[in-house]
Amino acid sequence: MEKKRARRRRDLLRMKQRALRIYPHDKNATQAEYLAVCSCWMCGNQRRNDWQPKIERLTMQERRFFGRV
Ligand SMILES: [Zn+2]
Repeated sequence: MEKKRARRRRDLLRMKQRALRIYPHDKNATQAEYLAVCSCWMCGNQRRNDWQPKIERLTMQERRFFGRV
């Protein structure tokens, strides 16, 4: 049976090759683990969405805190 670490290394190499095929400009294949690179309003980080109002970018906790002050 193949060792676990050897399997992971082999998988990572394969995933990196695939990432390079999809994103050739990304030489280090940083997106190898997760190829769907997207920052739309559904996938992206809510705190970095510049197109929504400032209050929407805060967490619920912060919204409650600033609402009280
Ligand atoms: Zn998206």
